[in-house]
Amino acid sequence: MTQRPRKALIIGAGIAGPIAAILLRHAGIETHVFEAWPHSTGAGSGLQIAPNGMRVLAELGLAPDLIRRGAICESIDFYSQSGAPLGSVNRNMAERFGQPSVSLRRAVLNEAIIGKAWSSNVELYFEKRLARIEDRPNQPIVAHFTDGSSAEGDFLIGADGVHSAVREHVVPDAPKPFDTGLLGFGGFVPRSLLEAAGARASLAMTFGRSGFFGFGYCGPEPRDGAMCWSTQPAHGVDAATFRAMDQAALRQHLQGFHAGWHDPIPQLIDSLEEIVVTATLDVAALPTWSRGRMLLIGDAAHATSPHAGQGASIALEDAYRLARALRSEDEIGIAFQNFEAERRPRAERVVALARRNGNQKREFGATGAWIRDRMIKVLTPFTARSWDWIYDYDVRAVTAPPQMSGRHDRRAA
Ligand SMILES: Cc1cc2nc3c(=O)[nH]c(=O)nc-3n(C[C@H](O)[C@H](O)[C@H](O)COP(=O)(O)OP(=O)(O)OC[C@H]3O[C@@H](n4cnc5c(N)ncnc54)[C@H](O)[C@@H]3O)c2cc1C
Repeated sequence: MTQRPRKALIIGAGIAGPIAAILLRHAGIETHVFEAWPHSTGAGSGLQIAPNGMRVLAELGLAPDLIRRGAICESIDFYSQSGAPLGSVNRNMAERFGQPSVSLRRAVLNEAIIGKAWSSNVELYFEKRLARIEDRPNQPIVAHFTDGSSAEGDFLIGADGVHSAVREHVVPDAPKPFDTGLLGFGGFVPRSLLEAAGARASLAMTFGRSGFFGFGYCGPEPRDGAMCWSTQPAHGVDAATFRAMDQAALRQHLQGFHAGWHDPIPQLIDSLEEIVVTATLDVAALPTWSRGRMLLIGDAAHATSPHAGQGASIALEDAYRLARALRSEDEIGIAFQNFEAERRPRAERVVALARRNGNQKREFGATGAWIRDRMIKVLTPFTARSWDWIYDYDVRAVTAPPQMSGRHDRRAA
């Protein structure tokens, strides 16, 4: 008889890792999470959690606090570079999907998740960067860290993000993350700037001839309760080059790039407290998400460029469904395959959608941008509900595809 696995090693304390740890703990599995960086509550930029992700957070009792500390987003409104309204989507999300879309600081989300993990008796270790994994038959699986320490468990979950080290063990020739040629510049600004501009409780998204600018509320704090970001073609200059610049030079670059764009974009750029630069990465689909007793979840399995605003939400869904898969199947390899069979089609559909959206933020000539704007204006009323399949996904209610059970994992190392 297969023995129920008792101890999980989870690599990465971003979003998927600690949430999976909490849910596995609820399933009676001992969970140890290892994070490469020191524990910090101040890092990161802003993000939005859609109703499908909020549903997972609600299951853990975290939704009310995050809604209070973030900002409900009542719609996404599209504009042209000159400020002409082009359309509006994602209205009445709470009413339609049971949970709202919530914009918030990544640090707030991280603090809430880590706090919940601690109170759920998850063992958390910081400054533990995975170096390699040893997965030998009839032995515990061993994670070795760069500081020379190691940990043993019954199985290992790679929740270590887009640059996953676990991925290299699961798929030795795994595709590397590639730069999509778009750069992100983001940060926080005072709420009063949006209030003075009469901004609604929505995300405003402006499509330019080249690039894109977004802004919206992300929390109740007067000083930095609003976020904004610019997405623009890299023109051969990488994120590291921009990161090496000082804040004044970055601000000047943004002012030049968005010169002449509608208000309050220039004022927001002038007030950005600290500009964070990110590369926009993508990873081609992996041939498998698991090998033996190792499984990838979240960005490690299916990194998505940020243009669908879904990476965090599908990482949260992964964590929830993984716990379900392990509750219903003791044979670890089979549980992992069941998980992948269920999750892969949805994750890949979201990744493809994000890629298509990213293409709207590239370089357009004046005529190309005019045509693109007309298309958005004409099509938005018809496409406004085309994303409902993403938000409507209820992690609790999903019926998985035919499950394997009772057979041994032939791919076990
Ligand atoms: C600019 C930007 C904006 C975004 N906006 C949104 C948004 O609005 N909505 C949304 O849903 N998604 C958004 N995303 C995507 C979202 O951030 C990711 O999809 C999400 O964070 C994935 O969660 P994860 O837990 O899989 O990975 P991560 O959150 O990346 O966590 C991985 C963790 O693993 C750690 N780690 C890495 N290597 C090791 C190692 N060797 N050993 C130990 N630990 C390691 C990392 O330090 C990190 O803490 C955005 C992404 C970017 C870049």
